[in-house]
Amino acid sequence: VFTDQLRTILGPGGYLEGDDISARYSADITGYSVGQPALVMRPRTAAEVSQLLKLCHGAGQQVVPQGGMTGLSRGGIPKDGELVLSLERMTDIEEIDTRNGTMTVQAGAILQTVQEHAEDNGFIFPLDLGARGSCTIGGNIATNAGGNRVLRYGMMRELTLGLEVVLADGTVMTGLNRVVKNNAGYDLKHLFIGSEGTLGIVTRAVLKLFPIPKSQCVAFCASDSFDSVIELLHFAKAKLGASLSAFEVMWQSYYDRVQAARPNLKLPLTGDYPYYVLIETSGGDEELDSRLLEGALEIALEDQLVADAVFTKSKAQVDAFWEVRDISMEVAATLQPYHGYDVSIPLSGMQSFVAALEGAVAGDWPDATLVMIGHLGDGNLHLCINLGAPPAQPPSQTIDEVVYTITGRHIGSISAEHGIGLLKRDYLRFSRTEAERSLMGTLKEVMDPQGILNPGRVVRG
Ligand SMILES: Cc1cc2nc3c(=O)[nH]c(=O)nc-3n(C[C@H](O)[C@H](O)[C@H](O)COP(=O)(O)OP(=O)(O)OC[C@H]3O[C@@H](n4cnc5c(N)ncnc54)[C@H](O)[C@@H]3O)c2cc1C
Repeated sequence: VFTDQLRTILGPGGYLEGDDISARYSADITGYSVGQPALVMRPRTAAEVSQLLKLCHGAGQQVVPQGGMTGLSRGGIPKDGELVLSLERMTDIEEIDTRNGTMTVQAGAILQTVQEHAEDNGFIFPLDLGARGSCTIGGNIATNAGGNRVLRYGMMRELTLGLEVVLADGTVMTGLNRVVKNNAGYDLKHLFIGSEGTLGIVTRAVLKLFPIPKSQCVAFCASDSFDSVIELLHFAKAKLGASLSAFEVMWQSYYDRVQAARPNLKLPLTGDYPYYVLIETSGGDEELDSRLLEGALEIALEDQLVADAVFTKSKAQVDAFWEVRDISMEVAATLQPYHGYDVSIPLSGMQSFVAALEGAVAGDWPDATLVMIGHLGDGNLHLCINLGAPPAQPPSQTIDEVVYTITGRHIGSISAEHGIGLLKRDYLRFSRTEAERSLMGTLKEVMDPQGILNPGRVVRG
């Protein structure tokens, strides 16, 4: 009877069951799955989501929200007995307010479609990530997505002005705020941004738009020491100001593998250096912006912050320089089977973090290979570790425990971008105090007393 009521709300085409449920609703993009949903609900409106959740709340039925299923923390993968609530039919771009510089969209809108709509109207929506063609705005909000231009524009939290959310009991909470300054009480949207579908279903959002930059210049640099890289970052921030839009660091371990992944890719710099840095500026005046970056580069070379560098403002070469950084998944694939991590470390402790990690990994797995890159402007490091042949003496900790213990010791975050989901839940203690975890649990109990929304993700259910 209960499932019949759900079907009636959704109508024909609004749900999938049995053999009609394809693998993409039970597995993430890596193919990982843990169960099979009995029903996939595909509502079209917040009112439908509300009716569905009201019923599920009453029946204690657990529900997993899904966007584009590109998340890498296993937050949207259903377990047996859970129903899927997919936002895939809620894709409308409802409004672009060009005076205000805002866009109102339904949560299932694909990021790339949102970017293209913004550009058609003379703006950019600056969130950008490799999964742009599949990930949704709702998923981006639920994971507080970051990507390449966080340094300049911030994460999804900074790009979201308002939200409409359906709460676990079916209450529709509409807060489609359009103003930057709104201190009328608690800013409730922040409860849902980054909550990975555990506190409510995002159904609509008001997003911030920005003017289309007229220039894009890139310098590809090599540095002799990590201290020089950190100094270069501070120098770039001071000298380039608001035009600085990316500061990406590649360790030699990464750079040396780029051609193993793409034999035909021409490297911007030859020679052996421990660090390579991609600096990007974007702004409103091509001539001025390129002179600014070129001038800064000359000083950096004179001051030996940089050992070698190439500069470009040509679109083709900008893309070629970025390609070296963007093929990180392909570079990681050369290390299969590998363990991947996405951590944040305060810049002041990053060198010590890397040294501690290298020491611990080499000590326990003498045959291991460790490759690193980072959105260093945001303190974000991506680590890829192939453990090599099993060591003669079995290590006392798993590689996850080693990485997260050292991250915790350096007051870092075990999840810079991808969230906690099921994958990292048991390691949350390395980044959040007991009091923080306890408050997270309390919030979950208050907002979802039946525990129906993504149970067991982020915090224990
Ligand atoms: C090639 C590649 C590159 C990537 N690069 C980056 C990157 O640079 N930065 C980054 O931050 N991430 C990155 N990701 C991870 C991923 O793309 C992001 O986490 C993205 O925001 C997930 O969006 P999605 O629509 O696919 O969400 P899903 O994977 O479907 O869901 C993610 C989580 O959000 C919940 N959820 C989804 N929709 C809603 C909703 N409407 N309301 C409530 N909860 C919801 C799900 O239950 C799940 O817990 C990358 C992934 C890939 C495959």
